[in-house]
Amino acid sequence: MMIVPGIMMPVTQVSISKHTLTSKHIIAMNKILNFLKNEFLGTPEYRMYSAMDKFARRIEKYKKKKMYEPLYNILLDTKKDEFLREMAADALGDIRDKNAVEALVLSLKIEYEKIEIWPSGILVDVLKASILALGKIGGTRGSEPLCKILLDIKKDEYLRELAANALGDILDKNAVEALVLSLKIEYEKIEIWPDGYTLVDVLKASILALGKIGDTRGSEPLCKILLDIKKDGYIRELAANALGDIRDKNAIETLVLSLETEKEEDVLIASSKALAKIGDSRGVDYILHTLDGYYYARHKGVGALEEIGWKPTTEEEKELYNSAKNSKMCYQCEKIFVGDGIRSAVNLTGDWGYFCSNACDHKFEREMEQWYDGK
Ligand SMILES: [Zn+2]
Repeated sequence: MMIVPGIMMPVTQVSISKHTLTSKHIIAMNKILNFLKNEFLGTPEYRMYSAMDKFARRIEKYKKKKMYEPLYNILLDTKKDEFLREMAADALGDIRDKNAVEALVLSLKIEYEKIEIWPSGILVDVLKASILALGKIGGTRGSEPLCKILLDIKKDEYLRELAANALGDILDKNAVEALVLSLKIEYEKIEIWPDGYTLVDVLKASILALGKIGDTRGSEPLCKILLDIKKDGYIRELAANALGDIRDKNAIETLVLSLETEKEEDVLIASSKALAKIGDSRGVDYILHTLDGYYYARHKGVGALEEIGWKPTTEEEKELYNSAKNSKMCYQCEKIFVGDGIRSAVNLTGDWGYFCSNACDHKFEREMEQWYDGK
């Protein structure tokens, strides 16, 4: 169950089902029914669960037979239980029938209106399920209301994140401007609270969606984020990845500049990967140079090369790549080994890792003995 944070919801909106049924699974309902059967047979609670179970099974049947019409009748019948309408939205998303988009958009609007009426404390399960279903089905008719939710910054962060994710699934180029605007709004917030813990879920989802849609209008704001080294490295890494997905040649200069000014390895690798995807050789050059670096960078580099489908062209490159791929680091002394001289073991605190067979390893075993002896 998902409730927008705030004061309690109006009492008239409360039903027992909303407090006890948190998943869409009939199995859960069955468990409750079986529990109630022994002592509460014939009570109103038993009758209520019984009726809902019957209804939930009917929704499952509609889903299996791909009958979208009865499903959207349930979805849009606001007098029906919230839980059942959520199930109907889920089922419509699973059926992936484009005819359902209209009903889901309508459901989105109805449920979103409710938030306007009760600004704090309202169930959003049907709204959430409708957003997810729109993303699953695709179809650009869902874009506009989703963009509206995305940019409604007075609303819950979680809903805006879901809207951005759905837009990334729908892949409608008409949503690019709204996503760019969301990017700017959310990025500004980081300026306002430089030391505080800022939620970046909407920002992250907007960046990912821009990358997925792959429209060059996203490049410029993403380039700006990438070079802003005073901000969080994770956001810059996301921006570099999205630039790699957009494959805009105009971003090459910025990505090269990132390689020269960036300090964080994850961002450096992401920028190199993006350059390689756009087709600039400086990307692969950078990654190759990390392969004989420190342990973490080696494996990041190997992963990046695999991701871009790189193949070695010389014996030297092949050797460098293989040695990086087979590198292991001693958990104890942090020395890097390629091939022999290292074995996997468990340390005193139960962590699994590689340990080398030199002195540091023996010291480790001595500590272990002492520990067992209770010294
Ligand atoms: Zn060691």
